[in-house]
Amino acid sequence: MQDYQLSLDTIFRRAEQFFGDKTVHTGGPAPTTLTYAEWAERTRRLGGVLDTLGISPDGRVGTFAWNSGRHLELYFAAPCTGRVLHTLNIRLFPDQVVYIANHAEDEVVFVDKSLLGLLLPLLDRMPLVRHVVVMDDLPPGAPATEVPDDGRFHDYEELLAAAEPVEFHVEDENQAAAMCYTSGTTGNPKGVVYSHRSTWLHSIGVLTNAGIGLHETDTVMPVVPMFHANAWGLAHAAPMAGASLVFPGPDMSPQGILKLMQEQEVTLSAGVPTIWQGLLPLLDGVELPKLRRIPCGGSAVPLALSEAFREKLGKPILQAWGMTETSPVATASHVPERDQGLPEEEQAQLRARQGQALPGVEVRIVEPGSTTPLPWNDEATGELQVRGPWIAAEYYRPDEGVTLNTDDGWMKTGDVAAIDQYGSVRLVDRTKDLVKSGGEWISSVELENLLMAHPSVKEAAVIGVPHPKWDERPLACVVLQEGETVTGEEILAYLEPLVAKFWLPDAVEFIEEVPKTSVGKFSKKDLRTRFADYRLE
Ligand code: ADP
Repeated sequence: MQDYQLSLDTIFRRAEQFFGDKTVHTGGPAPTTLTYAEWAERTRRLGGVLDTLGISPDGRVGTFAWNSGRHLELYFAAPCTGRVLHTLNIRLFPDQVVYIANHAEDEVVFVDKSLLGLLLPLLDRMPLVRHVVVMDDLPPGAPATEVPDDGRFHDYEELLAAAEPVEFHVEDENQAAAMCYTSGTTGNPKGVVYSHRSTWLHSIGVLTNAGIGLHETDTVMPVVPMFHANAWGLAHAAPMAGASLVFPGPDMSPQGILKLMQEQEVTLSAGVPTIWQGLLPLLDGVELPKLRRIPCGGSAVPLALSEAFREKLGKPILQAWGMTETSPVATASHVPERDQGLPEEEQAQLRARQGQALPGVEVRIVEPGSTTPLPWNDEATGELQVRGPWIAAEYYRPDEGVTLNTDDGWMKTGDVAAIDQYGSVRLVDRTKDLVKSGGEWISSVELENLLMAHPSVKEAAVIGVPHPKWDERPLACVVLQEGETVTGEEILAYLEPLVAKFWLPDAVEFIEEVPKTSVGKFSKKDLRTRFADYRLE
């Protein structure tokens, strides 16, 4: 067979030549629609801009931006000219943004004007950033942070208008295409570098029906940020499939997202569970007849949430599991043919699993330190480990002593899981979130799932708090639906018949809201800090 390079310029040319009439729409206060043909022309010019700015042939191109058509231009112009796209997470703490930009050695940052106010105070601490290119995402005359009058700052559209389109060619499929940092719940954020080859193969995996299953007929809206593990691969997979794209731009409100879904007749939209939880109260009487798939992951999808979507829209949520380190999609949950005759409640249980590995990815569970796989009987639990062509072998310039893979070549995920006889993964918890009570483990995820199925409960997060006898015991932190007045005793009485006795939380604390991480997941770390002095008798 030919030695053919799996590089992103091939995806780019495919979108340009085959699907020039498909569209890229960006919402928000200054909406725009481009055809793929227009997008491709602009992307080639953007390649010229990177040359004019003197960005090194393999230089890191930072972005500090919402999901938008311009961001998609950067997604291809940077890697297809040999550079490396580095998506900065706009919601990280300022010190972390500075750390990441310096660690990656970003030479330029492309920033949305609506986010310039966040970036400006940090720039003095990013000495390697020679250029800041401002992308105006606001309507004319809208109040905006003033762009400093300094040679370091440029206007995106002015640069594009003055640039010549370039030819894209990538020599080696193994060269870096993009990088992304995990949010780093402990220690410094850790960088993952994706190659052209890994991104290309991941895109194919996403396209398969075993993955997310994009079609040419789809209109895809990634609500998951483009800085969160490459929008889960959708920003590469949609141009590959020839699917139109819709980006929310700066308006991430549930109302804004729902409006875009309706107006743009979105068929497939992906985001973390909190996004769909936010949309739920707006869905009564709403019809989205074109919507066919809602991929969701990043944290466990509560069964009650998936079922509420099925009841209201006729479409359950499609759960997928992955990590920044796995590109990210590694497993996805589908109801297999053999189970399609089961009652809906039983199918819902299957959809609550993290599902089977995509073609190309392998999974195993092991005891810590062991390389002997545990049986696939859905009972044995161990650390989930994965391997495959889009699974990271190591972090980018890791801190001393930080490793990602085992000696026999499997990636350690830090997640605890069981696997059934058909290879379907059921995630029990993150190792660090398991509650360790008297030497036994309690799954916070499972307790949360049950709590969130209570009709009065809006959100629930379970953390371990110190206990004099058992080391740690579960504390349920519960947010009630508006107007509900259930007591802690009533919540515990509801849980009692559903769990083993020692799993029952020792206490229920009612809180206003579960704190969220920079990518919208429940932040157990913040809850643990808040309840650090909590004392159980
Ligand atoms: P961060 O560690 O910053 O949250 P990632 O987005 O890479 O960054 O998080 C990956 C982790 O998210 C996984 O290790 C797992 O714990 C959790 N996760 C992802 N998808 C799911 C899912 N479908 N169900 C349960 N947990 C999930």
